[in-house]
Amino acid sequence: MDYRNILAEVLVPEDKLQARIKELGLTISQDYAGQDLLLLCILRGGVMFLCDLMRQITIPHAIDFMAISSYGAGARKSLGQVRITLDLNQSIEGRHVLVVEDIVDTGHTIGAVLELLEARRPASLKVCTLLDKSERREVVVPLHYVGFDIPNKFVFGYGLDLDELYRNLPFIGVVKPEVYLKPE
Ligand code: IMP
Repeated sequence: MDYRNILAEVLVPEDKLQARIKELGLTISQDYAGQDLLLLCILRGGVMFLCDLMRQITIPHAIDFMAISSYGAGARKSLGQVRITLDLNQSIEGRHVLVVEDIVDTGHTIGAVLELLEARRPASLKVCTLLDKSERREVVVPLHYVGFDIPNKFVFGYGLDLDELYRNLPFIGVVKPEVYLKPE
């Protein structure tokens, strides 16, 4: 289906996204100067953000990927339990790890990921999320870099999917409620 049929409004247009990512890249470059930085992208939603963010980071850094799965789909995804479906290729012990996420909603997913990673003894472990639905938070999770604080609306585009589609859109859009609330 054409994305225009499910788009209620554009929440963050492309130019605002890119301008904020540039700012984040600059701050991260300053904060991690001289350190062994590893950007750890959570697949698949974080991919677009990672690619643009790393182009704005001016210090040497490595990247790696991790995939996790949680139960359910779409708006009903969060149950606070994650399983690693693709693990890292390298050790993070003693390294400065910055987790790159698309969105933090209830916080259960990133909370579980941080717990798993902390056990591997990185030198530091921080989170950079593009979107923060802070009013939906159910568990306390430290977010060190946040692109945009957004309202409690189901969004898609720029890495975020609606039933695995539309990740390619260059902006963040709000899904029409009648689309994601339809019975499965
Ligand atoms: P949390 O565990 O509730 O913080 O949810 C995290 C995951 O839920 C994200 O990584 C997304 O995969 C998914 N999610 C939460 N809100 C949205 C949304 O508005 N659009 C698309 N996916 C979302």
